[in-house]
Amino acid sequence: MAASGGRSLSAGRRTQGGNSVETTGHSADYSASLLVATLWAPILALPPILFLIGLNAWIWGPSRILSWVADVTTGSRTSDPGLLLWLLVVLVAVVLHEFLHGLGWALCSHRPVRSVVEFGVRWRALTPFARCKAEVPLKVYRAGTVLPALLLGLLPATAGLITGDGRALAFGSLMILAAGGDLLVLWLVRSVPGDRLAQDHPTRVGCYILDPPASEP
Ligand SMILES: [Zn+2]
Repeated sequence: MAASGGRSLSAGRRTQGGNSVETTGHSADYSASLLVATLWAPILALPPILFLIGLNAWIWGPSRILSWVADVTTGSRTSDPGLLLWLLVVLVAVVLHEFLHGLGWALCSHRPVRSVVEFGVRWRALTPFARCKAEVPLKVYRAGTVLPALLLGLLPATAGLITGDGRALAFGSLMILAAGGDLLVLWLVRSVPGDRLAQDHPTRVGCYILDPPASEP
C-alpha cells in the first residue's frame, strides 16, 4: 500500500510558529480514501492485537480471556459490569480517543488546543472527530495521531497482561482496533522526516506534507 502520492498547489504563504512564511506552494498528498482506510485499519491493527492475545495465552493460559468474554456476554458473573456498561465504557472511550488526538497535537506543538485542533461530530456516521487544523511538524502530527493507541490501547492491554485481567486486555485490544485508521496514517508517512510540515487532510484519512519554504536550502 502506498500513499496516493499526488501533488497539489496550496497557498503561497502560510503561518509557521506564528509567522507567515513564503512557500513554494506545493504539497505531497499522503492520504487514503475512507473506503481504503476502513479496509486497511483492521488489517494493520490485527498484528499487535494477536501478539498481545498470544502473549496473554502464553503467560496466563489460553482459557482465561475466553472464559471472561463468555461470562461478560452472558452476564453470568456478578462482579462484572455486564454488556451494557461495557458498551457505555467503549462509547466514552471513543470520545476520549478523539480528545487525546487533540491534546497530543496541542501539547506537542506548545500551542493552545483551540488554535491547533477542531473537534466535531460526523453526524452521518455518528462519530466524533478531532482534526489538526494547524500546520505542524510531522513529529507533532505523529505524536497526536498515535497517542490514543498508546494510552487507551497499549497501556490497558499491558496492564491486563501483567495482572491477568482479561477485561483490561480486551478493552486495550478493542481500542487498538479503533486506532487502526491512525496506524494507517503513521504507515503512510513512515518515510517522511519528522521536521517536515504536515497539514491534516480535510476529507481523507492522512495528511499533506508541505514542501520546505523556498528560502530554505
Ligand atoms: Zn484516531
